[in-house]
Amino acid sequence: MSRFFSPRHAALEPYVPGEQPRDQVYIKLNTNESPFPPSPKALEKAGEAAGRLQLYSDPECRALKEKFTEVFGIGGDKVLFTNGSDEALYFLFLAFCDEEHGAAFPALSYGFYPVFADFTHTPALQIPLREDFTVDPEDYKVLGRTIILANPNAPTGLAMTTAQIETILQANPDSVVAVDEAYVDFGAESCLPLIDKYDNLLVIQTFSKSRSMAGARLGFAAGNPALIQDLNTVKYSINPYNVNSLTAAAAIGALSDEAYTKENCRTVAETRAWTAGQLRSLGFTVTDSAANFLFARHPAVGGEELYLKLKEKGVLIRHFSREDIKDYNRITVGSREQMEILLQRIREILEGTK
Ligand code: PMP
Repeated sequence: MSRFFSPRHAALEPYVPGEQPRDQVYIKLNTNESPFPPSPKALEKAGEAAGRLQLYSDPECRALKEKFTEVFGIGGDKVLFTNGSDEALYFLFLAFCDEEHGAAFPALSYGFYPVFADFTHTPALQIPLREDFTVDPEDYKVLGRTIILANPNAPTGLAMTTAQIETILQANPDSVVAVDEAYVDFGAESCLPLIDKYDNLLVIQTFSKSRSMAGARLGFAAGNPALIQDLNTVKYSINPYNVNSLTAAAAIGALSDEAYTKENCRTVAETRAWTAGQLRSLGFTVTDSAANFLFARHPAVGGEELYLKLKEKGVLIRHFSREDIKDYNRITVGSREQMEILLQRIREILEGTK
């Protein structure tokens, strides 16, 4: 830390992204990326836009909004595009949370929520999950705080039903309830159809996962126009050009190829079911994931040990050192070939522990 660093930030514990090592070629199953490239239409549109890079991007993303409305049936005043959905989450905290206006989220969920809470000096109520890692909606009744729920949750992959989320929306009419649907396309129910019904609902999604655009950084928040206006006030006070023109163009291409997205999601769900079955037959406990990752533990090998041994064998998975989940690992669902190699390496490791 330099002597110039603001004391306001001195105690921050930043978010730690999944490792991106360059020392060798790994089978990367640690950051929930798609095993598929972006749609060829996305590449084509980005290529066309590259020739106009001398111009600023459109701060309103009008062309993208138009395409988005066509595909999602949601009007332009009900959506805000962001630099990854991480930025939508950051805007959420900046817009609705502060020292006096707290946040609540599950104690085991996306690791960025507590970081944003700290950064914005927001008191955060972290609500324990049930023993089986599910969220009990009863714990989220009348909290008087902004509520953030990842659905499906990370790193467990477990999903809530929209009916459960509706009970939380109804019990908290005076608080924003944000549903982070980063992984929803892989098998959970989206709350997007509810945004006209609840003026306190904000749905956040990303193009990083199901649309294979993690490197382009595009997310969105959808909700009541008044909520979106508040997020826009924050955005125009920080970074009006938050979405670059290559990304906006690529997203238009991706949205004109929804069949490709749907097919990829179907393949991931199929590979997930197959891999979960294989892991279970090797003795793993695996959560019933609706996302593009699995959360698993084995009685004979610790979470960190498995992670390290797999890394030695060229396969990266994600291990979290926190006490309550230290026996587990989060494994991204890659291609069928990648999962076959993963399973082969795991078999070798398990053989070695006998
Ligand atoms: N929410 C959840 C639950 C996530 O796991 C992630 C990905 N790490 C994000 C949001 C952010 O994704 P992105 O910024 O790439 O849209």
